[in-house]
Amino acid sequence: ARPIAARRAGGVVETADGVAIRLSAIINDPLELKAINPASFAGIGLMRTEFLVASSADAVNEQRHYDIYRHTLEWAGDAPAIVRMLDLGGDKTLPGLGARKSESFMGLRGTRLLLARPELARAQVRALLRAAVHGNLGVLLPMVTVPDELDAMRTYFEEERAVLLGRGVEARMPEIGMMVEVPAAALMLEQFSHSAFFSFGTNDLAQYLMAAARDDQSVAALYDAATPAVLRVIAQCVGLAKAMKRPIGICGEIASDPRHIPALMAAGLRHFSVAPDRVTDIRSTISGLCTDGQAAAEMK
Ligand code: PEP
Ligand code: MG
Repeated sequence: ARPIAARRAGGVVETADGVAIRLSAIINDPLELKAINPASFAGIGLMRTEFLVASSADAVNEQRHYDIYRHTLEWAGDAPAIVRMLDLGGDKTLPGLGARKSESFMGLRGTRLLLARPELARAQVRALLRAAVHGNLGVLLPMVTVPDELDAMRTYFEEERAVLLGRGVEARMPEIGMMVEVPAAALMLEQFSHSAFFSFGTNDLAQYLMAAARDDQSVAALYDAATPAVLRVIAQCVGLAKAMKRPIGICGEIASDPRHIPALMAAGLRHFSVAPDRVTDIRSTISGLCTDGQAAAEMK
């Protein structure tokens, strides 16, 4: 095994003006881990868990969740692995779970759906609590809109931990953070001080800010870009998170596109979660830029 310091170094790239930027992996399916060298990343910045639920039986299969999370944490070693709770609804529908395709971007999706279907949430919560014993786990909540949702999910974690410990099962509280992808949450970020960390979901943040559905190609130019409105919200949130002393990063698709990296750096971002096959490009882009997003050669 490689020394831990060397593994970590792979996920950090220095800007031309000497600032360390962290690069984490986005994982959509645990099978991808086999082909990815953990030494190239500062851990996992987003593991989507929707792959787990080809059926509603899978969604409540605690042992299946646990085995996958444990394997993922072992892959990451001592680096953080951030697993996002089920983000169903919207573009990710599942028959029988109540997520309707047409209105669902504005409806019952993400944490809203989990709180409406506690049996789904609690099975995943128990698996996460058990897996947390085996590594550096962060749990990310999707589509959080108001602080009460974060509190309600945290209560599930506390209750299920007590249940597990009562049964003599090892369980550890992970850090719980939230996606910043609903404009209302972004605008009121200081109200979420009980979130351990933040991650911009710009795929959704852009669709909601720009009123441009992410599954409608005819308006792709509006949502598939680092628009001034999205960048302003990001910059404001980075400032708020700094004041709250909470880490903040980005896991939306624009972070995997070298064309958008200068603007995202200028907005203050220093932690990028990227598609594994884009990391080489993103690393070389960042190493040629200063933190204000300007190319090194253009610096006076
Ligand atoms: C996002 O919204 O930017 C995001 C990373 O999550 P998803 O694409 O799964 O909604
Ligand atoms: Mg999203």
